[in-house]
Amino acid sequence: MNTGATDFTARWAGIASSALAGLSTADFRTRWKALADSGVLAGVRDGPRGVVTDTLAAIEGLGIGGTSPGLCYALTSQHFGVQSPLRAAGSAAWAALSEGVERGDTLMCHALTEEGGGSDPLSMATRAEPANGGWVLTGRKAFVTAAPIADHALVFARTDVERTPFALSAFLVDLSSAGVSRSEPFPKKALTDVPMGAIDFDSVRLGPEQLVGREGAGLALLTTTTSWERGLLLGYALGPMRLVLDRTVEWARRRKQFGRPMGASHLVAGRLADMATLLHRSRTLIFAMAQRFDSGEPARRLASEAAMTKVSVSEDLLSFTQHAAALGGVRSFVSDTGLTADLTDAMAAAVYAGPNDLLRVSVARELGLPVEN
Ligand SMILES: Cc1cc2nc3c(=O)[nH]c(=O)nc-3n(C[C@H](O)[C@H](O)[C@H](O)COP(=O)(O)OP(=O)(O)OC[C@H]3O[C@@H](n4cnc5c(N)ncnc54)[C@H](O)[C@@H]3O)c2cc1C
Repeated sequence: MNTGATDFTARWAGIASSALAGLSTADFRTRWKALADSGVLAGVRDGPRGVVTDTLAAIEGLGIGGTSPGLCYALTSQHFGVQSPLRAAGSAAWAALSEGVERGDTLMCHALTEEGGGSDPLSMATRAEPANGGWVLTGRKAFVTAAPIADHALVFARTDVERTPFALSAFLVDLSSAGVSRSEPFPKKALTDVPMGAIDFDSVRLGPEQLVGREGAGLALLTTTTSWERGLLLGYALGPMRLVLDRTVEWARRRKQFGRPMGASHLVAGRLADMATLLHRSRTLIFAMAQRFDSGEPARRLASEAAMTKVSVSEDLLSFTQHAAALGGVRSFVSDTGLTADLTDAMAAAVYAGPNDLLRVSVARELGLPVEN
């Protein structure tokens, strides 16, 4: 990173610490709004590079400033996985919502997964049927980040019974509509700061303007949302990784074992060097993706590189966390020691935004191999 960018990231770290001061026990929406007041959800337009790169660097700075990994994840997921592709799709429903979303007043979620089908979207059961010029939505989405507290959802539903690339459509749904109900938060183990849950749609009436794009264009929109997510979502972890690296270095310098600092052991020093390398590689890959988005390349053309970035960074995040866990000793497995290692967060990254093994299959298919999911 050049000096300007370092100053820039440090400025965002300062923004996080002052926005979140005194809010450590506040609920998710209060902390969300406090961070959104910085303008991060509107996209950072006064930085030294493009808006995607600078927003990513701002989120990295928010993480370095102490924003929890769950909150960093939720910000990154909504900004890049929902707002950016919807802005590119340019629907009327999004135009009406975008201002409130960018201010942090309206919280969105991305409702794709169902209990009966996660990896395979074309197997989804949720359906939207035409009625009175609009649609009637019926079904259940599950394991959706922010579902218990969100205001609106981007919902993918079947508008054709056949299993074809045009069977799905996408809708923007107001979650206060009649017929929508939400589960209690699921007791999840990863990224615990942001709730996850299910949404039931019981004959929910939708106007024609709530369709995003054309009928049957849901899978195409999903290719766009997943390219953004796979390319940039793991950016949420860059700030928290920096904090873990700094703390672990400090611990290895301070902790005395065998009559010398732990960091004087070549094996300990080697693990720390590996952690720095894993973080460097992850930053390099994700910021390279951000530059590609800034240069205006269409998301669908970046699908394969986004998949490779997601696989690489999620697996580097796990290796990085394993090194941190080994070096923290017992403190890695006890809360609030300053060295607690979130191995579950790192493992979850191999599952969301497309399980890594299925992404490997799609990369291999791009290479020309006759392999299907
Ligand atoms: C922290 C977190 C946040 C999430 N947030 C959201 C959200 O906001 N919105 C949303 O819609 N969903 C969300 N999800 C759900 C996520 O998208 C799904 O978990 C994912 O799509 C996989 O679906 P599944 O868990 O049902 O796995 P399944 O489809 O049941 O597959 C199980 C595992 O088997 C493997 N597998 C299955 N089939 C194959 C195959 N043919 N080849 C190789 N391997 C295979 C994969 O490794 C997969 O992980 C989230 C998940 C997590 C962990």
